[in-house]
Amino acid sequence: MEIKITKTTSPKAKPADESKLGFGNIFTDHMFMMDYSADAGWHDARIVPFAPIPIHPASTVLHYGTEIFEGLKAYRTADDEIRMFRPIENIRRLNNSAERLCLPQLDEKDALEILDTLVELEKDWIPHSEGTSLYIRPFMYGNDPHLGVHAVKNATYVVICSPVGAYYAEGINPVKIAIESEDVRAVKGGTGYAKCGGNYAASLRAGEKAEKKGFTQVLWLDGVHRKYIEEVGSMNVMFKINGEIVTPELTGSVLPGITRKSCVELLKDRGYKVSERLISIDELHEAAKNGTLEEAWGTGTAAVVSPIGWLSYKGEEFTVNNGVIGDVTQQLYDELTAIQWGKVEDTHGWIHKVC
Ligand SMILES: *Cc1c(COP(=O)(O)O)cnc(C)c1O
Repeated sequence: MEIKITKTTSPKAKPADESKLGFGNIFTDHMFMMDYSADAGWHDARIVPFAPIPIHPASTVLHYGTEIFEGLKAYRTADDEIRMFRPIENIRRLNNSAERLCLPQLDEKDALEILDTLVELEKDWIPHSEGTSLYIRPFMYGNDPHLGVHAVKNATYVVICSPVGAYYAEGINPVKIAIESEDVRAVKGGTGYAKCGGNYAASLRAGEKAEKKGFTQVLWLDGVHRKYIEEVGSMNVMFKINGEIVTPELTGSVLPGITRKSCVELLKDRGYKVSERLISIDELHEAAKNGTLEEAWGTGTAAVVSPIGWLSYKGEEFTVNNGVIGDVTQQLYDELTAIQWGKVEDTHGWIHKVC
């Protein structure tokens, strides 16, 4: 595909102190943009200086929330190779999300070429310190200049990049999670499996409430029975119960995480029994009480894995593994990060070399 590149004439200084990067605060010099119309298809693929995007006040996304996104990282190895982790999975998931929200599909090859071209152009922005990376945020939104409610005829696809710090700069500390019993994030038939901004809008209230009480995130229950475990905040969730690894099956209201999928594969390689099935809050509660809940952790691109040390449900609190990270959680973190940063050989074909 043809991507027109307009370089910035005023490049920004790269962050001097990589220990202060945080997450999603700083953006690189350029971004990718491309427009879609029902008549012309995708057109005008371009990389331009990073800048605000002008938007029509009646644009669909501002009124009806037609927005989807992705999140992946580019990693710098010790030999200065730049690579991404399973980017094709992000592209396929973006297309699945687009289908759900009646947004246009991207050609898989073009979408990969866009990521490669932008990441290579911005490679000097990829930080060097241990555990740091370049977070890549592709997103698409409906952009018709009309207030009528219907599937859009115009859309815009954008990719922005942000150098991010080491998630665990202060060591991997288990988090406190509140099991939410009032609000729900998604229901089967809704948009739970799509990575769309609207799911996050619906989840903020419970997150804020939990934070005020001293919890890091919320663990969601299914919206129909309020009984089955779905996921935590922006992560999928896994438990080790009596030696078995259990993670909620993808019923339509759970986001199909790429970290989740990779963890399932690594755990099966290691010989663990892994079950993707329904887990009720009662089963979890019982396992916590009788001591068979051995480990609990979240999985997602930003943190890789996040151990859960405490769970609270309707005012009752229980501790997992005495509030310290468990062996399986630690192994998963070590193994996945070693593959991503090129410290061990990638035997699964997960690494996509950029340059
Ligand atoms: C992105 C996301 C995840 C994690 O997916 P990864 O592909 O592993 O990063 C989990 N839950 C929700 C709601 C998400 O948006």
